[in-house]
Amino acid sequence: MGKYGRALLKLLPSLADIGGSVGQIMDRWVQDPWVGRLIDLECFFLSGLKAGGTVAPEVAFMFGERSHSVIEYPVGGSGAIVDALVRGLERWGDQLRLNARVEKILIESGKVVGVLLRGDEVITAPTVISNATVWDTYTKLLEPEDLPHHYRQAALATPVVESFMHLHLGIRSDGLQGLTEHHVVVLDGGVDISSPGNTCMISIPSVWDAHLAPSGHHVVHAYTLESFLGWHKDESYSQRKREKAESLFQALERVIPDVRQRITLELIGTLLTHARFLRRFQGTYGPAIAARAVFLGLILLFLVCIE
Ligand SMILES: Cc1cc2nc3c(=O)[nH]c(=O)nc-3n(C[C@H](O)[C@H](O)[C@H](O)COP(=O)(O)OP(=O)(O)OC[C@H]3O[C@@H](n4cnc5c(N)ncnc54)[C@H](O)[C@@H]3O)c2cc1C
Repeated sequence: MGKYGRALLKLLPSLADIGGSVGQIMDRWVQDPWVGRLIDLECFFLSGLKAGGTVAPEVAFMFGERSHSVIEYPVGGSGAIVDALVRGLERWGDQLRLNARVEKILIESGKVVGVLLRGDEVITAPTVISNATVWDTYTKLLEPEDLPHHYRQAALATPVVESFMHLHLGIRSDGLQGLTEHHVVVLDGGVDISSPGNTCMISIPSVWDAHLAPSGHHVVHAYTLESFLGWHKDESYSQRKREKAESLFQALERVIPDVRQRITLELIGTLLTHARFLRRFQGTYGPAIAARAVFLGLILLFLVCIE
């Protein structure tokens, strides 16, 4: 507070906007329904919620950055960023352990003492930071008695953003000169953009970095929102998977009309795949904390700071 108190006070007049939603600002300034819909779409990409639910600074930051920078792509894909972080970590004598599943965060007398890995290895530590979701951390990694009951209940009641259907393809690239990397396809303009299967995001990163695919090929990732409800592995799973991927194929056809004839590798991922590989509760994108809740949180934080 000593360092940033003044700066915080200067923000007071904008507190309503900072804690408000993009929708509130949009209602004041945007009349054109098409522009409104575009902003809804931008918010949806970023937070999984439309403008009414998205916290304003989140989007202000993105628009602000966009107006004075270019979109950059790391050569080597996002893996190159991870490699750089690992190099930095190791330079300081630290170690990254992969394929090391944490089964439990160990607590003794109310204090964290380390983690138990699959295979019964224990790593002791005075501090443990869990990057698993709040639902996974509180239901799988910690015991209920490790946390105050009300705190745990409130945290677990956090609304959940839904998950995704994914399509990963390898396609022949002949004749696709001039192809661009990112595409967003809203299949039906008359249907809500957040309706599962309607808004499809497509990335073809080998357009920018040819090393990401074998020569003469492109690598494609397309995804769309999908609700977790009713998904389980039964005899209809394969068929349902194929049906749900259909909207992704249709979206891709708007970008590459003969995409189905070009496929050399096809992997369809459901939200069960997403949940399994990222070990995320219901394969969720994350918490769906709407702007109103953040606003109340900010006011609380401010009051606590003043006190
Ligand atoms: C479909 C989709 C599209 C996205 N698009 C963008 C985008 O365009 N731009 C952007 O900036 N962000 C995007 N994001 C968000 C971005 O991918 C995430 O914010 C980012 O990957 C989070 O990184 P992380 O390391 O925090 O978590 P994660 O990448 O989720 O990594 C967590 C890791 O922890 C592991 N783990 C979980 N439980 C355990 C356990 N018990 N023991 C050991 N390991 C465990 C998981 O297996 C996983 O490897 C997107 C996300 C999704 C799902």
